[in-house]
Amino acid sequence: NERTFIAIKPDGVQRGLVAEIISRLERKGFKLVAIKITVPSKEFAQKHYHDLKDRPFFNGLCQFLSSGPVVAMVWEGEGVIKYGRKLIGATNPQASEPGTIRGDLAVVVGRNIIHGSDGPETAKDEINLWFKPQELV
Ligand code: ATP
Ligand code: MG
Repeated sequence: NERTFIAIKPDGVQRGLVAEIISRLERKGFKLVAIKITVPSKEFAQKHYHDLKDRPFFNGLCQFLSSGPVVAMVWEGEGVIKYGRKLIGATNPQASEPGTIRGDLAVVVGRNIIHGSDGPETAKDEINLWFKPQELV
């Protein structure tokens, strides 16, 4: 069964968008198989975004992810990795289509409210980073 890691970033939680985002994924038909709320340390954020360590925004990005509660989730369903990214929308909300989460609910790239794994390998790595096996149903 295909699974992906999706997180509502501190801006999404702070803005009260948790229920809205979960609702969109549930209504599509994907299944929530793990969820927790946590404030990640900066070191943890650096692990999560290690692929971006050479980018100029890396430090600010990790600082931001660790700045408040994050809702970490695992979602399951056929095609959930790719279609989950489709529901989320393009990285920069200025380019996200209306009807997507970022397109409807966000404005700037540094505050794009949600994260989704970008492929099968990262999905596996991110699920293992954020969750223990016994936390998944
Ligand atoms: P995410 O990994 O958070 O789901 P993504 O896969 O759409 O987003 P990535 O290229 O992995 O995009 O970038 C990770 C995050 O880094 C983005 O979600 C965004 O918050 C931030 N980011 C990306 N590009 C920029 C940029 N040019 N300036 C500032 N922040 C950026
Ligand atoms: Mg990414």
